[in-house]
Amino acid sequence: MSAQQDKQFSVTVIGLGPMGHAMASAYLDAGHRVTVWNRTASRADDLVARGAVRADSAEQALAANELIILSLTDYAAMYAILEPATAALDGRVLVNLSSDTPDRAREGAAWAAGHGAVQITGGVRTPPSGIGTDDFATYYSGPREVFERHEDVLKVISNTDYRGEDPGLAALYYQLQMDIFWTALTSWLHSLAVAHANGLTASDIKPYASEVLSGMDQFLDYYTPRIESGQHSGEVERMSMAVASLDHVVHTTRDSGVDPALPAAVLETFRRGVAEGYAEDSLTRLFEVFGRKGADAEAAGAA
Ligand code: NDP
Repeated sequence: MSAQQDKQFSVTVIGLGPMGHAMASAYLDAGHRVTVWNRTASRADDLVARGAVRADSAEQALAANELIILSLTDYAAMYAILEPATAALDGRVLVNLSSDTPDRAREGAAWAAGHGAVQITGGVRTPPSGIGTDDFATYYSGPREVFERHEDVLKVISNTDYRGEDPGLAALYYQLQMDIFWTALTSWLHSLAVAHANGLTASDIKPYASEVLSGMDQFLDYYTPRIESGQHSGEVERMSMAVASLDHVVHTTRDSGVDPALPAAVLETFRRGVAEGYAEDSLTRLFEVFGRKGADAEAAGAA
């Protein structure tokens, strides 16, 4: 990131939770001018001590710079902060790095446009410790020309991964990764609870948990082209085997006195696959079963 460190940028960061704080800090570390605003003003104290300018209001924070980084819990927080300050939105570029749904990101972009601002949607793929490095990339989507004009400034936060003009795209890619992330992390926590109930520690199972998670890549390599060509034959694993195997996990969990709700919910989806006639097929059929369930639920809601 040496090229952009040669220039000095001026940027506003609104939202100083762990992420926004790390972003403001990265800008200061790289010698850029930073204006900050946060609902809980004290979270800016150490940044101000290092040279950041504390805006007294959201309106002042918007007035200070063209480029505004938003790092908030969700889009509702953006409206809570910016609705009273819409008069200062004209001409601003809002880089919204808050997590939310693709639809809410699109609504946010339309709302910003209605006030003369442009939204670039973001999805950050690192915890705060990775901010200010180029080890990770952040998804971006929205008007390409605006993104490219500000890309050097955004590269201070992390590498960039521009996904396209649709403001919902960065949010979509981000939520797809979160779908995997939260489920995988929770499955590890669940297996830890079972391990603990049986006298094993987190350290005892760490190498084996890592083996499963890092080995997932090989499964993705194998299944991705098969799924894309509609190939779900069960020569490697069959859904009937997966039902029996996961049933053993549920029973091991119960026998250990641990809450079985998580694996039981997954087992229920495997059983649904079998009930739909896929006992002899690969587990990858579930991706079709999930899709149909969503469509069924929507149809039932509309009826
Ligand atoms: P937090 O939820 O901890 O903090 C977000 C900020 O939102 C705080 O500044 C908080 O203000 C503000 N906020 C929330 N609600 C309101 C409101 N109604 N009005 C005004 N301000 C509000 O989030 P993080 O900093 O951890 O993360 C920011 C975003 O980045 C989130 O969307 C998160 O999902 C995403 N993310 C987080 C990662 C992480 O590891 N933390 C990793 C990748 C993405 P106050 O300080 O006053 O409470």
